[in-house]
Formats: sequence, C-alpha cells, structure tokens
Amino acid sequence: MARSTPVPNWVPANLPPAPGVYQFEDEIGTPIYVGKSVNLRRRVRGYFYGGGPSDERMAMMVRLARKVTIHRTGTDLEALLEEAERIERNRPAFNRALKNRSRGWYIEVDWGQPFPRLRITGARRRSRAQYLGPFRGRRGPTEAARLVEKIFRLRSCTGAIRPDEEASPCLQHGIDLCSAPCIGLAGVDAYRRQVRAAMRCLAESEAVETALARCSAQRDAALKAGAMNLATSWDRRVDWLHELEGYRAMLERPHVDRSLLIVLPGAEPGDGLLLPMARGRVLPRTRIHWSDADWREEVCRVCYDVRLAELRAESVFAPADLTPSLIVTSWLDRRSRDEGQVFDLDRLDASLVTEALAAEVEGSAAA
Ligand code: SF4
Repeated sequence: MARSTPVPNWVPANLPPAPGVYQFEDEIGTPIYVGKSVNLRRRVRGYFYGGGPSDERMAMMVRLARKVTIHRTGTDLEALLEEAERIERNRPAFNRALKNRSRGWYIEVDWGQPFPRLRITGARRRSRAQYLGPFRGRRGPTEAARLVEKIFRLRSCTGAIRPDEEASPCLQHGIDLCSAPCIGLAGVDAYRRQVRAAMRCLAESEAVETALARCSAQRDAALKAGAMNLATSWDRRVDWLHELEGYRAMLERPHVDRSLLIVLPGAEPGDGLLLPMARGRVLPRTRIHWSDADWREEVCRVCYDVRLAELRAESVFAPADLTPSLIVTSWLDRRSRDEGQVFDLDRLDASLVTEALAAEVEGSAAA
C-alpha cells in the first residue's frame, strides 16, 4: 500500500534535487509566490510537511496554490537573478522582500551653484552636478549625507545664498554645525573645499581615515591648550566620522565602474551561461553549449552587446536595473574562484576572452 503524503497531487512527483526557481500559481494561473532553492525538490515539498508553513502569510499562499512550475539553474547566482526578474515581472501577491524595491538614489552636489548643498535625488538631471550612487534605499544615503554636513559644517538650508554680513545666521551656526556662508564667514572657495572634502569622505574610506587623524589631532591639541569647548567640538566630529563608516557598510551600491562577462556553469553538463554586465547594468543572459560549433561567435556577440549597452546606457538606473546589479555586485564581492569565471571587458577584448574559454573547453574535453 502506498504511503500517504501531505503533498498534493498537483505538485510534480519528479521535482529535481537541483538548484533553481519555483513558482506557485493559483487556480487561474496567476503567479502568487516565487522562490529559489539549491534543492527544488526538498524546498517545494517542504511547504506541505509538518502541517504546512507556520507563517500565516505563507500558509495562506499554500492554501491558494494549485500549481507549481520550476526553472532549473546551474548556479545560485542565476537562480537569484531569475527569481528577481520573475518578481519584477509578475509582482506575486505573497512576495514581499523584492517587491518593494527602490528605484535607486543618488547623493548630488550641484557645482553650478556657488554654495552647493548635498541633496538626495532619484534622478541624475543636472549637467554640472556630481553624483554618488545609485544606492538602494533612501535612508542610508540621507543619513550619511547629514553626517558629513555636520562634520564639514555645510549648510543645511535650502535656496540660493547671497552673502550678507548684516544678515543673521540661523541656529546651525550658533551650535557650530555650519560655517555660515550666508554672512560671508566662509567664502566661495573655502566653502567649496568643505563640500569637496565631504564628498571624498562619502566616496572613499581612505578620506575618512585622513579626516579622523586630523580631527583627533585637533582635539588633542585643544585639550592640551585647555580649550575644552573646542576639544568637545572636534571630539563630536571624531564620533560622527566613526558613525559614517558604519553607514558606509549599509550603503548598497552596484559596481557601476566595471563592464564584465561572467561565465557560469549551466543547468546541464556541457552547458554554460554567459552573464554580461555593462557599467553595472546586468544584460540578458545567453545559454551556451560548449559542444556547439558556433559558441565562439556567441561569446563575441555578447561582448559586442556590452559595448553597445555602454554607449546607450541612460545615466539613471531604471528600477528593474538596480536589483540585478546589486545581486551580481554582492556575488562578485564574496564569490569563490570555482563558482564561475569573470572577464574584465575593460582590459580584455572578445578574442582574448574566447581564447581563454577555448583553453578551458579543450581542457575539460581532454579530461
Ligand atoms: S548658518 Fe546660514 S548658511 Fe548655514 S544653514 Fe544657517 S542660514 Fe544656511
């Protein structure tokens, strides 16, 4: 007698114990949940054992589901990208994590203004402005920008500034958080140097280290001279610089300065996956069979597509671009060598890439 199982009969019996993406659909075929796993069989069937999911939202999803489809992948990176794309495309009702993604945010300094402010913006529109980003989420860049404003005594007021010695500065100057360009205490050149130093600290850890050394030395000198108020003021800056380093770790930002071709193992033996990235944008993936006579042409075509995408790239990351970019960036930062090959297309052209891959393909065929 067959053992009874809690898994409904609409779940295919032959789910593979392999990595990939699964998609639950309701009775009219609408995708209601997308997930990924390194073992599709165990993950999908696991939804029905132990009385079902303890989480009420997932329990409801399982009650509504009437079909599950799968897409096998060769690697976890491909599964992550496939999952993100399906969620972006279908907006399944029970996916929360990736659905509420941001469009990407920038820190902007408009050098066209004599006394520029740091602004958080979702678009790169000003031709004379400098931008850092894009970052996922608005909170991280906003907090980091507010910290450097305080550290470098930048103005937080809005609107244009016309220095007037007769005017009254606001409280920010009274509590030593602004160098008061509004009353001419900081001239155009001095104020812009403050802004440049602030942007360097936002962009580079080394600049924060330099600023920390300077602020600590100033604090120690003030202490030695018995100037307690001044010492306290420098000490606050030291604390804010440490806080800034904490925020930097939270600022998720894709590698927009690089163009790459990533070559991953495919889902089946003898298959590969070409994953191109043009200045941080992840382009469509191409499946490749190493036994096909024309795989070299495919690699050259994909490298060419990267060059075209670089020329056509909009200056603003579209909502759909940011999440795949962050997925690949995070994979690049933590990957181990045997997970796939990465070719830097700023250093290598298509012929050198195919040469390196050919040596690999011939090596595996001989083994
Ligand atoms: S002190 Fe002057 S420049 Fe600074 S924030 Fe206040 S009004 Fe703006």
